[in-house]
Amino acid sequence: MRYDVVIVGGGPAGLSCALTLASSQGRGWKWAEGKKFLVIDEGNSDLNKAMLKNVPGIPIGTLGPELLEKIREQIKELNDSVEIKQGKVVKVEGEKGNFKVYTESGEVYEAEYVVLAPGFHKFEIECEGVEVVDNPKSPKPGRVMIKHDGDYKVREGLFVAGLLAGVSSMFTAAAGSGVQVAINILSEWAGKPIVIHDVPPKKE
Ligand SMILES: Cc1cc2nc3c(=O)[nH]c(=O)nc-3n(C[C@H](O)[C@H](O)[C@H](O)COP(=O)(O)OP(=O)(O)OC[C@H]3O[C@@H](n4cnc5c(N)ncnc54)[C@H](O)[C@@H]3O)c2cc1C
Repeated sequence: MRYDVVIVGGGPAGLSCALTLASSQGRGWKWAEGKKFLVIDEGNSDLNKAMLKNVPGIPIGTLGPELLEKIREQIKELNDSVEIKQGKVVKVEGEKGNFKVYTESGEVYEAEYVVLAPGFHKFEIECEGVEVVDNPKSPKPGRVMIKHDGDYKVREGLFVAGLLAGVSSMFTAAAGSGVQVAINILSEWAGKPIVIHDVPPKKE
């Protein structure tokens, strides 16, 4: 199966990236229409352990799994451009326009772009051209990040988001980096800087 973007990891970073990509459709941008996105997720987001008090706009006491489910529902409500599959990615090979993403259970997906958002606990995905280093923002030792150009690009076509990109372990920071990666990819497609802003319908 071929996708325009394959996102590895469905925590706050990966899902926020997918949500922003999906929201580019249905607004008359020819370069966005018909694009297909895949999230592959093992389902062990750090957010599963959280009860939230400081995520802007989210009611105090919301449980992490509830918030993840809400984001997945929001993605579905927008349109059908995003598929979310359970699975573990073990290998990414290739280059921009021609990536192959391999899962532990033997599926192979092709993609123009790949976004790595599997969190910061370890990075065991076989992937050429990534440099894994200690994560300086982690309060606990042993966490990792992948070096990027300062704007989440690891190399052409390959982006990193969330804690693996070296942002602090806070929901909004991880989600924000996923959004920025989506915007960077959309801007490459559009050939100019893109933002996606919606306004209420005009009154008659
Ligand atoms: C106990 C606890 C409480 C917290 N409380 C708060 C809080 O109150 N407020 C706040 O703002 N933040 C809180 N956080 C932090 C927040 O949960 C993280 O910052 C956020 O989840 C990081 O998002 P992420 O998408 O980068 O990584 P993750 O949430 O870790 O998501 C990564 C996803 O990728 C998947 N994955 C990993 N490897 C693979 C692979 N090879 N193939 C496919 N999928 C893979 C994982 O299973 C996971 O689902 C808390 C964290 C913890 C642990």
